[in-house]
Amino acid sequence: MLRPIVRYGAPGLHTKTSPVSEITEETRRLIDDMVETMYAAPGVGLAAPQVGVPLRVCVIDLSVGKRGGELHVLINPHFVEREGMQIEDEGCLSLPGFTAGVPRPSRAAVRALDRSGVERVVEGTGLLARALQHELDHLDGLLFLDRLRGIKRDIIVRKIRKLDRLGRW
Ligand SMILES: [Zn+2]
Repeated sequence: MLRPIVRYGAPGLHTKTSPVSEITEETRRLIDDMVETMYAAPGVGLAAPQVGVPLRVCVIDLSVGKRGGELHVLINPHFVEREGMQIEDEGCLSLPGFTAGVPRPSRAAVRALDRSGVERVVEGTGLLARALQHELDHLDGLLFLDRLRGIKRDIIVRKIRKLDRLGRW
């Protein structure tokens, strides 16, 4: 089932999430819905707070469902390694229409449970490292905007406020 994606300004997007204490039928339904919603958007990653659920769950698929074996389901993820730095343009399904160059690690490894509750390490460079950091940030209540400084951030926030006033956000 598709779930609506909330946008910048929704309180749940700016709050730290809680860990999943037990993987239940409801957790698995949430994951299935998140994967479906990510593919439909389309996007390469989606975090539970983006569909209004304050839990430490996110999904990533750089192929957007086009290649098998690239879907990562991350429950209670945390970084075990992060190194290097890259700056590339980045967007977010909760900030439609906006992109900005965001500094991110060039390599990252995350330990998490998969949808069966098996502990796994997902490791990547380039876009995967960026996606891991972007989605884990969501679980801590951070958007890519929060990684920008000064004027770059202010310009986007001002544009969003204007869209909001016009009822288009
Ligand atoms: Zn995002």
